[in-house]
Amino acid sequence: MKLTILGSGSPEAYERRASSGYLIEVGADRILFDCGGGVFDNLLRSGRLPSDITHIVFSHLHSDHMMDYARLVHAAWDEGGAAIKVFGPAPIAQITKGYFGRDGVLAHDLIARTELPHSQEVWVQRGGTLPRPWPAPIVQEITPGDTIEGTGWRIRSCAVPHAQPVLDCMGFALDAGGKRFVYSGDAGLCEDLESLAEDADLLLHWCYRLEDSDASNAMAAVTPTPTEIGKLAQRVGAKALVITHFRKYMDEPTRFEKAQQNASLEFGARATIAEDLMTFEI
Ligand SMILES: [Zn+2]
Repeated sequence: MKLTILGSGSPEAYERRASSGYLIEVGADRILFDCGGGVFDNLLRSGRLPSDITHIVFSHLHSDHMMDYARLVHAAWDEGGAAIKVFGPAPIAQITKGYFGRDGVLAHDLIARTELPHSQEVWVQRGGTLPRPWPAPIVQEITPGDTIEGTGWRIRSCAVPHAQPVLDCMGFALDAGGKRFVYSGDAGLCEDLESLAEDADLLLHWCYRLEDSDASNAMAAVTPTPTEIGKLAQRVGAKALVITHFRKYMDEPTRFEKAQQNASLEFGARATIAEDLMTFEI
């Protein structure tokens, strides 16, 4: 399988890094983990189209993990793509309905595109047939511990401490062809994620804080440092470690280098700090 980083940043508006988005290509499927702001444009820059995405899997519903969701679903629909299968914690079904339902915020746009004669004419010219259906992503809400099965792949999930009790937050392990990709989501250290991450061929782990950052004990408990992430990767026997969800202040060159060194030292091999559009063969 192949991983493409479509967003290695945080909620900050940042030219260098889009918010969270990670594309896994496995067999005929293209699975997008999270879809934060800027991910849509990076998907295009990576050479793919919105309708190439077959599955979206949300770790949690913070805005920096879902702000481009509606744009992606709408664009895939407008290309005449197949309905995207969407998995995520509640209330992803309600959010989807809020965008694409008959009373949703996009209803006026969708009525115009599907019912006005000249819009229908454009649709037919592009190979579509009438009546034009509305976007209808296939949404399945999941809770920590649920699995998602696909052709030749399987995703397991677990709860990770981040924004509970307001948001359900999950980490994932995707197994395919004897390889394992693990995505932490936004996660404090926890046993469930360690179990999930065991023997990962690639562990993609968020980082929101460096060793020299001030943090309350409560904040520190849910924001592992590069040192702690390196130790985690070493403990679980990960073969490769990629650190993501970087913030502007962490990209100051001295800090960036120190973060990379600290993680690598504990991991026992070179850790990579993700950049948008990086790719990894797993
Ligand atoms: Zn986040």
